[in-house]
Amino acid sequence: MTRAFNFNAGPAAIPLEVLKQAQEQFTDYKGAGMSIMEMSHRSAAYEQVNNETQALLRELLAIPDNYQVLLLQGGASTQFAMLPLNLLRPGKAGAYVMTGAWADKAYKEAKLIGETAVAASTEADKFMRMPELSEIVVPENTAYLHLTSNETIGGVQFNEFPDTGDVPLIADMSSDILSRPVDVSKFGVIYAGAQKNLGPSGVTVVIIRDDLVKESPKTIPTMFRYETHAKAGSLYNTPPSFSVYLASLVLQWIKDKGGASALEQYNRDKTKLIYDTIDQSGGFYLGAAQKQSRSLMNITFRIHTEELEKKFIKESEQEGFVGLKGHRDVGGLRASTYNAVPLESCQALAQFMADFQKRNG
Ligand SMILES: *Cc1c(COP(=O)(O)O)cnc(C)c1O
Repeated sequence: MTRAFNFNAGPAAIPLEVLKQAQEQFTDYKGAGMSIMEMSHRSAAYEQVNNETQALLRELLAIPDNYQVLLLQGGASTQFAMLPLNLLRPGKAGAYVMTGAWADKAYKEAKLIGETAVAASTEADKFMRMPELSEIVVPENTAYLHLTSNETIGGVQFNEFPDTGDVPLIADMSSDILSRPVDVSKFGVIYAGAQKNLGPSGVTVVIIRDDLVKESPKTIPTMFRYETHAKAGSLYNTPPSFSVYLASLVLQWIKDKGGASALEQYNRDKTKLIYDTIDQSGGFYLGAAQKQSRSLMNITFRIHTEELEKKFIKESEQEGFVGLKGHRDVGGLRASTYNAVPLESCQALAQFMADFQKRNG
């Protein structure tokens, strides 16, 4: 079997060990004579998967007791709307830190629902950096402050988070959850689609402080209220059971690897190989993001001509690399180096980049 060097941005690499374990359990889950997908979500076996997934998230992120862990559907994109539906009140504004494509999508959804404000923007720098904490201004009458911890398309990542006092801090961590430790108690809500760092698509993790769960207005549809899912332990309706099951295996894999701080070191080692190759190329490769905001999850870079970029992608594909084309909105090249991307893939990419430069520099 040959596994590709998978640098896809999402859905993305899943640890091979996890895929093999799922394969082993695929047709007969723990002696049940059926796969987990074929079982009732009210069965003891599935209830255990549901509980274990939440417990592992609690453990790995050190989530305090006064937070709920919800496993929802609809992707992070649904959270862009669900968040203001639940937390935005007339007379108050949802404040957004504008750092690129994903922040912009979240902001536009909130605009459909209520008042919004821009708390900071790096548009003048083409979103190629994250704002300094001092640039983030929380306006009067703010319901919450929303930020995107890692902008997947631009390849910029926050290194630290603002202290927003009584104003709940909300973070879209879709592309960097569990890639490093975070202090959950600083946040009112953290949400993340699973398909970058937690497993397959289909499940969205929402970590929400108890007092904010209680704010869900009674007037919004049942499925869109956080309270509905919190009260039901994320089993209000049929959950995406196979996605949750696979996420539980990925979480166990993260735990076996040593948890978030061990993964952070691993991710630093991985990305250093590629960023160093860019920086030592004498301008053949150009890092897209400003250095202080460089992401540990999405490395964005360019080559000085578009022809060479095309050639790079074509030849990389011939060598077994997948997913190195930049997002269609920004072009260039991007290597996504999520938790499950092994060091060996990054070593191979760094080597390929050096060889490509030698041939074309
Ligand atoms: C991928 C991504 C999303 C969108 O997630 P969906 O699950 O496709 O809705 C939102 N925010 C960020 C930061 C992402 O990387």
